Amino acid sequence: MSPPTYAAPLTDLGATRLAALVTAREVSVVEVVQAHLDRIAATEPTVRALVHVDGADALDRARRLDVRRAEGADLGPLAGVPVVVKDNVDVRGQQTTCGSKAFGAAARVDAEVVHRLRAAGAVVVGRSNMDELAMGASTQTSAYGRTHNPHDPRRSAGGSSGGSAAALAAHQVPLSIGTDTGGSVREPASQCGVVGMAPTPGLVPMRGVVPFAPGLDRVGPLARTVEDTALLLSVIGGRPGLAAATADPDVRGLRVGVPAELRTSRNEVGVLARLDATVELLRELGAEVVTVSAPAAGRALATYLTVTSAASVPVLAPYVRTGLAGAEVERRYAWGLELLREIPSPLEVAQVAREILAGQVTEALDGCDLLLSPTMPTTAPLLEGHASAEDLADPMAAPYTDCWTVVANLVGLPAVSVPSGRSADDGMPVGTMLMGRPRTDHLLLRVAAALEAAGADRR
Ligand code: GLN
Repeated sequence: MSPPTYAAPLTDLGATRLAALVTAREVSVVEVVQAHLDRIAATEPTVRALVHVDGADALDRARRLDVRRAEGADLGPLAGVPVVVKDNVDVRGQQTTCGSKAFGAAARVDAEVVHRLRAAGAVVVGRSNMDELAMGASTQTSAYGRTHNPHDPRRSAGGSSGGSAAALAAHQVPLSIGTDTGGSVREPASQCGVVGMAPTPGLVPMRGVVPFAPGLDRVGPLARTVEDTALLLSVIGGRPGLAAATADPDVRGLRVGVPAELRTSRNEVGVLARLDATVELLRELGAEVVTVSAPAAGRALATYLTVTSAASVPVLAPYVRTGLAGAEVERRYAWGLELLREIPSPLEVAQVAREILAGQVTEALDGCDLLLSPTMPTTAPLLEGHASAEDLADPMAAPYTDCWTVVANLVGLPAVSVPSGRSADDGMPVGTMLMGRPRTDHLLLRVAAALEAAGADRR
């Protein structure tokens, strides 16, 4: 092999670059995977992002990919790229624990997304920690302990896909897979300073993913850059064209709406300041930014909790019956049962509220190309001292981390969280959310890439 053309450590490179280096034979897949396994070993004691790492299996697969490459095969768009998969997405031969003691059977087949990852040349190196059954926003309901934020280990990494986001921020891997029922990809991404997306419903197949609330659940990509997020989505969504979404990050002539109801004082001062800076940036880049209104969006969290608790009853029943489910799962199950029994049903009321919300958000989107808001009202909270463990686990308690993200799940819209600098309050990362009409994933990634590029210039 010729001398390497890369100067940075392999664990600092993104997926796009790593795949290009592997394809150009400048580095072997074994080298790439080994570097990331070493990084995992060095960072896991503080971060605890992963519930399972199979280094031997990963290196074995890496060796086989190197052999195929030597035989002249094209390994695919994710050639040799290490990835971690949330522990509610099946990986053949491994336990799917869902952060629960009530789970644990080894999966017989790969989930469709894992199948697509492998077919594209990726190497699954581990499984990421999550709140039990994806219910929570901090990984504190995981039966396997909580994940720490790599930017400050005293703080939460967010949840429920907290392990997937923290693994990226700790440079354990350049790509990860999460699931998002009410914000579980976008919110930990926001707290860990990485990109996370809930794609248009139906774009990424759900086969082999443990359900939480059917109809709201989505598999989503996470990465450190928008370009890598687009690449990952193009693979798991089976749409190669999406990888080019970030090639021309131009926002000129776009009309961006900021819903007044998501720009309230519920947001921390440092979070609002980053939103305002993002608005300014978009204007400088040639977009028009206007204020829009969707009053129901500001109170969507209560609707979300009612809808999901009722929808999850049939899903949860078998696990609750094992007697091994944790407190948060038990609580939502009991609540869901109560909701289904009550007449007149609060569920019906929530369904009407959901329709009203959908009507208002759709109308707001009729007048613009996409909506802009903070991803969440706070930065990553302290695990101790700021809010109790129960508060962090309970989405209705302070700090209300899901209140803005749930809108996209209830209405069925794609949404992406992109890092937007750090809060002046505590120095922690802040995320901005872009939300669009169904099937505008390409547009959202393009605008996110423009913000990322312009923001990086400023900071
Ligand atoms: N934190 C939210 C909840 O607890 C969302 C979870 C998710 O998106 N899976 O319901």
